[in-house]
Amino acid sequence: MNVIIIGAGLAGLATAYRLKQQGIDAQVFEANSQPGGRIQPAIANSHQDLGPTWVWPYAQPVVIQWLNELNLKTFDQYDDGIALIDRDANMQAQQQDLPSQYGIARIEGGTHALIAKLSSCLTHSVKLEHIVKRCVYVNKQWQLTVSTANNGTMQFTCEKLIVSAPPRLGAAIIDTTEDSLTTALTTLSRAETWMAPHAKVVAVYTTAFWREMGLSGRVASHVGPLVEVHDHSGPDGTPAALFGFAGVPAHLRLEAKEQFVQAIKQQLKRCFGESAPEPIDIIIKDWAYEQFTTTDADRNGSGAHPPVLPSLARDAYCDESLWFGVSETSQRSPGLIEGALARADEVAADMIASMHN
Ligand SMILES: Cc1cc2nc3c(=O)[nH]c(=O)nc-3n(C[C@H](O)[C@H](O)[C@H](O)COP(=O)(O)OP(=O)(O)OC[C@H]3O[C@@H](n4cnc5c(N)ncnc54)[C@H](O)[C@@H]3O)c2cc1C
Repeated sequence: MNVIIIGAGLAGLATAYRLKQQGIDAQVFEANSQPGGRIQPAIANSHQDLGPTWVWPYAQPVVIQWLNELNLKTFDQYDDGIALIDRDANMQAQQQDLPSQYGIARIEGGTHALIAKLSSCLTHSVKLEHIVKRCVYVNKQWQLTVSTANNGTMQFTCEKLIVSAPPRLGAAIIDTTEDSLTTALTTLSRAETWMAPHAKVVAVYTTAFWREMGLSGRVASHVGPLVEVHDHSGPDGTPAALFGFAGVPAHLRLEAKEQFVQAIKQQLKRCFGESAPEPIDIIIKDWAYEQFTTTDADRNGSGAHPPVLPSLARDAYCDESLWFGVSETSQRSPGLIEGALARADEVAADMIASMHN
């Protein structure tokens, strides 16, 4: 059975991994020059991420199942000590207890350790810099037009196709006149990609000085530019880092990049006090401008947590030859890591069942 998966994010890789366990070698076409999609390291081989940070083991059995299987461990989000409330851009932030983050966990080696583990099991299956431009179903086969880095535009065919690209990007590459699929594509083209309008900021320090001051590293800010900040250090406090999310609109982040960095440095100094050291590095990942994550509609979207999409986002189409497999299509925790893994389990099982129909 010739199977192609579009997108080597967590969902696409996990689907390929599940199929491989059943003896099916799917090819995974990834537009970018590295796998992972929204999961990317901030510091290679370390615990810091530019995409997701957290899992919630007490509420996420699918995550736990996968972490156990891949031999990955979690550690608690550091939250000892007092938080800071940043209410006034002209004053030092005030110390205040905030509701506990008890139960929120991080993956040892970062969430990108998931991608590294899956990729290492799929070395020959993932084709990087393969941008799928168009998919059309003709004579019981999918025909894909793919733009590649080295060989220009190429054509591929497959009997089973799994689209694990973000909903709007995935919907845009399917060319069909079939009624039920057209309805599904309309739904997907209205679905926001979670976190796409956001920028994540990682500030790296020589020591986790806030811990020595009895602070948790957590800041809730009314004035920004970072609206929330958390400890992002390794399990033993090294490398020392904070991460935050920007409250500045995407177009301003783009137009005034250097001012944005300076404003972040000033805010961190103001919040933690004059004795706080300068970060040795500030790493910013602006997801609003990632062409294989974010469309114009996402960039200007609500940023709200995604709803559970109607079941037509999870149905199979074209004689059980096509599925949508990105996290946002999951019934369980759509948009989250849990959703990506749950949907991977489901799509792989559905596809295998279709081969016996
Ligand atoms: C800043 C940030 C913070 C987050 N925080 C959390 C968190 O704390 N906890 C949590 O659970 N989740 C969090 N998330 C969400 C989490 O990252 C996603 O749920 C998960 O990574 C989605 O994986 P996916 O494979 O479904 O989609 P994606 O990671 O978006 O993968 C889709 C893949 O498709 C590829 N692609 C797109 N178009 C094409 C094309 N035409 N041809 C070929 N390939 C294509 C893309 O390059 C990408 O690799 C966060 C996300 C971000 C950005």
